[in-house]
Amino acid sequence: MKELEEKIKKDGRVLGADILKVDSFLNHQIDPVLMKKMGEEFYNEFKNQNVTKIITVESSGIAPAVMAGLSFNKPVVFARKHKSLTLKDDLYTADVYSFTKQTSNKISVSKNFLDSSDNVLIIDDFLANGQAVKGLADIAKDAGANIVGAGIVIEKSFQKGRSLVDEMGIKVLSLARIKEFKDGQVVFEED
Ligand code: 5GP
Repeated sequence: MKELEEKIKKDGRVLGADILKVDSFLNHQIDPVLMKKMGEEFYNEFKNQNVTKIITVESSGIAPAVMAGLSFNKPVVFARKHKSLTLKDDLYTADVYSFTKQTSNKISVSKNFLDSSDNVLIIDDFLANGQAVKGLADIAKDAGANIVGAGIVIEKSFQKGRSLVDEMGIKVLSLARIKEFKDGQVVFEED
């Protein structure tokens, strides 16, 4: 998505070897106009797959997921990272290891909002090592739901996530694919 690549070039900041900070339009302040276009891109890719539900993980996945939900006119469920008061029996859970934070988070989704009749589209802001998408896919499988695919805003192709998700047989659409960071600049994959 050209407009997203331009935005990343203009406003993104490379931190260290492998982190891209996009706080000004995605992870802190949100650009709703760009976000809406992203939702439409996800819709165009997966519109013939009978998507019944969008799932993501809080918090940075929520904005693109809601915009996708708007395009599909379907509900959005975000997995929670924090313990809720709901009984454990009522939850699907998965462990997600964060390489950036070096911690493991349990994510959970209420059984009220996902079941075997669902065709699920997974959405997230970044695909790095693939643990967030894997955790969401584990939850969807636990619910007996079908996984239609994954829509990612920014994929860092030099990390392990893409091959992990490919191995899981999940079709991925990434709106921007970063090949590498070179001298603090973002280099995108060729289309
Ligand atoms: P993964 O589970 O694929 O390793 O990492 C995905 C999650 O880690 C995303 O949900 C995102 O919140 C966070 N993340 C991974 N890499 C980056 C990055 O370069 N920048 C930002 N802002 N978040 C990242």
